[in-house]
Amino acid sequence: MSGTLYLVPTPIGNLDDISRRMADILGRVDFIAAEDTRVTVKLLNHLGIKKPMAIYHRHSTEASGRAILCRLQDGESCALVTDAGTPAISDPGEELVAQCAARGIPVCAVPGPCALVTALAVSGQPTGRFTFEGFLAMNKKNRRAHLDALRGEERTMIFYEAPHKLAATLQDLAEVFGPDRPLSLCRELTKLHEEIRRTTLGEAVGYYQENSPKGEFVLVVRGAEPQAEQEASLEDGLAQVDKLRGEGLSLRDAVRQAAKELGLSRNQLYDLAVGR
Ligand code: SAM
Repeated sequence: MSGTLYLVPTPIGNLDDISRRMADILGRVDFIAAEDTRVTVKLLNHLGIKKPMAIYHRHSTEASGRAILCRLQDGESCALVTDAGTPAISDPGEELVAQCAARGIPVCAVPGPCALVTALAVSGQPTGRFTFEGFLAMNKKNRRAHLDALRGEERTMIFYEAPHKLAATLQDLAEVFGPDRPLSLCRELTKLHEEIRRTTLGEAVGYYQENSPKGEFVLVVRGAEPQAEQEASLEDGLAQVDKLRGEGLSLRDAVRQAAKELGLSRNQLYDLAVGR
């Protein structure tokens, strides 16, 4: 029988966010697959756990993934961890989970630290509907296509960004969504210097022209205001009458139906239609 792949989140800045279940699973599995074993060994030392480790990082997902799958199929259990936060979320893991799912290998996700959820919760932006956009591409064309696709997005949008690219990203976001769009800049979450700056895209651009960004950031951008529904005009009504007449309806029936569909006055539409 196959072993289980456990997705074990690790703290995004505060070691006290290690849960008992995380520590228990890390202590119980046969081996740990880590994004960077030097980072993970520090966590294991903190927990007093000694465990064989394998590397699973974004540049070796294919080869190391195959080795991990073989061991899982041989019945070993594995905990996948990344440097910080939840595996498979803008971090290695997505492909490995898909491959386990395709082979019927059990996968168990342990809930825990995740920068996007922490940022959204504290942002003060609407949380009912949101979209996670991860990192914007480095490539200018792909980056522009990504942002263009979000122009009318009404849900709250969440982006990850590295400090050295923050200023350029804020500039691009302000160009696409406008300088007045509300933004919550969530910096160094769960750490000593945690900071939540509730501002606008335009103000944030100005601020980071004066101050160089330090630390890790999640950007939570308010969605677009919902578009007010356009009221139909009498011209729209006439066009609909013509269409219905073409389908064989009498003038009277076509007017009645078009007026109902478009919320127009039946008498006004009728007078206009007969007067043509
Ligand atoms: N899988 C991780 C998670 O679930 O949180 C995210 C990994 S991704 C490679 C790293 C990005 O997450 C950073 O560039 C930053 O945008 C965000 N991030 C991670 N830790 C953070 C923190 N303490 N404060 C703010 N943002 C953080």
